Amino acid sequence: MIPVVNQRACIGCGACERICPEVFRLINNKSNVMDSDACDTCECEKVLEECKPRAITLYDDF
Ligand code: SF4
Repeated sequence: MIPVVNQRACIGCGACERICPEVFRLINNKSNVMDSDACDTCECEKVLEECKPRAITLYDDF
């Protein structure tokens, strides 16, 4: 999967980085996707569930 963060929607809660630090990193209080290739190792469902503003979208990796 390829995760994409909507930076306008991100409130900087840090949940994604706590759950999946291989993929997400907070910079200036906004989440950034540092390594989308690492997404396969993360708990995607949990990240989506914990992102209250629903700022993260997962796209299929073709
Ligand atoms: S969980 Fe969502 S709102 Fe929180 S830092 Fe990550 S992308 Fe932003």
